[in-house]
Amino acid sequence: MKIAVASGKGGTGKTTISVSLALSASGPTLLLDCDVEEPNAGLFLAQENIREIPVTVPVPVLDEGTCVKCGACAQFCEFNAIVHMGPIVMIFPELCHSCGGCALVCPVNAIHEEASRVGRLPKARFLESMPRGRGLLPLPSCKGCLQSETPCPLP
Ligand code: SF4
Ligand code: SF4
Repeated sequence: MKIAVASGKGGTGKTTISVSLALSASGPTLLLDCDVEEPNAGLFLAQENIREIPVTVPVPVLDEGTCVKCGACAQFCEFNAIVHMGPIVMIFPELCHSCGGCALVCPVNAIHEEASRVGRLPKARFLESMPRGRGLLPLPSCKGCLQSETPCPLP
């Protein structure tokens, strides 16, 4: 059986329902948290062997000494992530969508790409001793790790 829990509104209890359903199921269960912005079902499950993989995207970096200020990169960028004003060329990595085009159009190879960290991918093994069949949520409490990149949802 496949059950999808969906809503267009945050804070309606999708994660609570999903985790409770998963914990209530008998037999092997696959719980997939497909929230693209804040997948946090794992916070409600006791886990061990947590390791984190950094997630990066390539962003352009300007070699000032090589740049001839032609403005081709700024003209190419659809996202206004590069500004060209006379002798000044500035890159705004926050606006970059990592298409790589500016480096390709630069006639003198004055742009190279470097990895910019945009997040992290935690991987963990869930404990076998999770309570099953009762739908209880073993909420962990805050450990004061200060690692959360968004406000920590734990009490
Ligand atoms: S990589 Fe693409 S989006 Fe980013 S600054 Fe260059 S042209 Fe713009
Ligand atoms: S395309 Fe290359 S040379 Fe021209 S302004 Fe951009 S970085 Fe400089």
